[in-house]
Formats: sequence, C-alpha cells, structure tokens
Amino acid sequence: MEIAIIAHDGKKAEMVQFLNQHKDLLLNKNITLISTGTTGKKVKKAGFDVTRLLSGPLGGDAQIAARVAEGKCNMVLFFRDPLEKHPHEPDVLMLMRLCDVHDVPLATNPATADLLMKAL
Ligand code: PGA
Repeated sequence: MEIAIIAHDGKKAEMVQFLNQHKDLLLNKNITLISTGTTGKKVKKAGFDVTRLLSGPLGGDAQIAARVAEGKCNMVLFFRDPLEKHPHEPDVLMLMRLCDVHDVPLATNPATADLLMKAL
C-alpha cells in the first residue's frame, strides 16, 4: 500500500510527531511511503524509507496527484497549513479533487490522519 505524506512548512513539526506516534504501524505493515521533497527529507530523518518527489511548489503535489489518478497511491496524509498562502494552491486543489474522483482516503489534518491509521 502506497501512502503519500505532505506537510506545509507550518505543519512539518506536527507531521514528524505524527510519524513517531505511528512508527510501529507504518514500519511493520506492508506500506510504501512517498513524499514531496522537503517533507520527505524530514520523513527520512525520522527513520523511514521514503521516495522523495519534487518539492510541493515545484510540482510535488502534482506528481502525487498523478499517482492517485493512476491508481498507484492509495492514501494521502496532507498536513495542510490553512493560515498561510501557498503559490501552488492550484496543485493542492487538484490533488484533493483527484482523491475525491478516485475515492482515495485523504486526511488534511492530524486528527483525521490519526483516524485513518486506526483503520489500517
Ligand atoms: P515540500 O512541499 O514537502 O517540498 O515542502 C509540501 C507542499 O508545500 O506541498
């Protein structure tokens, strides 16, 4: 199962905390992690194997959206910062739309991401 992890800058610390809370599950299940570029660096530093795509503003969210559309990515954990403006907002909207189009579970905050982990 492929899970995408994305965190806006203001949410990267919470994302790392989330990964540490769910380390056993994420390391032991048959899970492959992919991430946008800068998020991926932090995921790696937290001790996980992760495939890093482009940084979000350079197209990383769009790459993940394409994997969702192709049926390759099965879940998206997106730690969004709703209090900041993002130059790549159109890509973010595209990713969320494609998750809905293809019925792929999408968390946009830590509380929902926690619930999705409980479902695994
Ligand atoms: P980043 O991108 O992991 O490269 O910071 C995340 C985003 O802003 O979508």
